[in-house]
Amino acid sequence: MEKISDVIIIGAGISGLAAAHFLKKSAPGLEVMLLEASGRAGGAIQSFHQEGFLAEWGPHGFLDNAEESREILEDTGLYREAQQAPLGDFHRYVCHRGRLVQIPQRPGKILSTPLLPFWGKLRVLADLWIKPDPRDQSLGQWAGRRFGRSVLPLVDAAVTGSYSGDYNLLSIDSVMPGLRRLEQEHGSVIRALLRKMKEKKGSVRKRLPAMNNFPQGLDRLVEVLEQGKNIAFASPVTAVGRENGTWRITTAKGVFSARNIVMALPVNSALQLLPALRKPPLARIPVSKICNVALGFADSARVPYGFGYLAPEREQRFTLGVLFSSHMFPNRAPAGKVLLEALVGGRRHPERLELADKDIISLVCQDIRQLMELPEKPLFAKVLRPASAIPQLEMDHPKMLAYRAGLEQDHKGLYICGFGWDGVGINDMVKSARKAAVAISAGGRGDEAAAAVKPVYF
Ligand SMILES: Cc1cc2nc3c(=O)[nH]c(=O)nc-3n(C[C@H](O)[C@H](O)[C@H](O)COP(=O)(O)OP(=O)(O)OC[C@H]3O[C@@H](n4cnc5c(N)ncnc54)[C@H](O)[C@@H]3O)c2cc1C
Repeated sequence: MEKISDVIIIGAGISGLAAAHFLKKSAPGLEVMLLEASGRAGGAIQSFHQEGFLAEWGPHGFLDNAEESREILEDTGLYREAQQAPLGDFHRYVCHRGRLVQIPQRPGKILSTPLLPFWGKLRVLADLWIKPDPRDQSLGQWAGRRFGRSVLPLVDAAVTGSYSGDYNLLSIDSVMPGLRRLEQEHGSVIRALLRKMKEKKGSVRKRLPAMNNFPQGLDRLVEVLEQGKNIAFASPVTAVGRENGTWRITTAKGVFSARNIVMALPVNSALQLLPALRKPPLARIPVSKICNVALGFADSARVPYGFGYLAPEREQRFTLGVLFSSHMFPNRAPAGKVLLEALVGGRRHPERLELADKDIISLVCQDIRQLMELPEKPLFAKVLRPASAIPQLEMDHPKMLAYRAGLEQDHKGLYICGFGWDGVGINDMVKSARKAAVAISAGGRGDEAAAAVKPVYF
């Protein structure tokens, strides 16, 4: 007799693992299998250990301000192991006119920050009177129109931190759907935020979130989530189709059948499989590639206290930004040493990734030495070149979302989540994966919740 799984999840990155976790929790009776192309789970998440330094190939942590990620930490007991770097305690910097300037974290501090000129601060208030334009626009166009052009370097720094993208190309409707909804409802972003603050007055004051990681690196999250899951490794899916109401999933190891499939893949990997079901509006979406240069120095290095800094394009620097990793989390560097992780490349500078490792290291050191006092040479230097690229939610992205919605509506038992559909951060992945799991457990579609407002933390 043909074996038909209840659910097959394609991809065992954090999206697939989170979907499997939530399915196990909400529908423990369902038989769930994961098909993973590579020999390991975790996808873009991968920690790097060498000579006592602990760096990350991909993500460096996730904020604990998403309910769904907190749920995973609680369900697995990982909250007991998590190392937390609270945004309220650590300074973050933007490179501004060739020096590091602290980002104001509280509204009161915005008035005194040198990051915006006096007239620029006044111009921000024009948002109260500017009518929302319902057409999709680039993030840069939108922010410039509502708040004035002097905020653009800050917007640039923010999208460098999350997308390593170009604010003139990213779509405001796709990158910040929640904020756009508020703007349309209240006629102004500032007015909407003030009303929200007023509503919350009297309720417990929320602390700023904390960045989470683990003493072994983010690999620990993967290790715990893959426990007890049925994962077939080295099983790249090459085709999906539907016959007599059952999904047929073709891999090098054979054809699998399932009542439901969760495609938990980066958008461009999903676009290898989805055209068999319907032609997509784009053959692929743009991506941004970066490399991470892990640099170990003696602790005589005068690294400013805090998380790290981001450099807007206007500053014309080689490095997109630097994480002060050993400040954020303990045991990232051996005793007496510090670890910095510098990010290079991005949507605007893919050519920098063509350089040899030694040249990248030398240019990064030259660049950051102008911003902080560092010893002559790093004690440790390694260029990590992740295979994963960050999908860019640019102006055509709403067409891709409409395409996905049409596919899910027309193909019973098809759920699509993963890197670059609803965002690019770990929290976005876990949120979408949970939504798919809840819908499957409920035997069909889930509720269409309105997009939440994603706070911007640099
Ligand atoms: C350099 C970098 C830095 C980042 N920094 C941060 C950060 O600091 N904080 C943060 O929140 N997020 C960050 N992110 C984003 C974060 O890594 C992603 O949101 C997340 O890892 C995506 O998970 P995913 O499971 O959707 O996709 P992936 O991690 O890409 O996993 C997809 C999996 O599917 C498998 N697969 C692909 N095709 C097939 C197929 N045909 N058949 C079967 N399996 C297949 C792949 O092998 C992979 O294991 C970063 C990403 C990158 C690349």
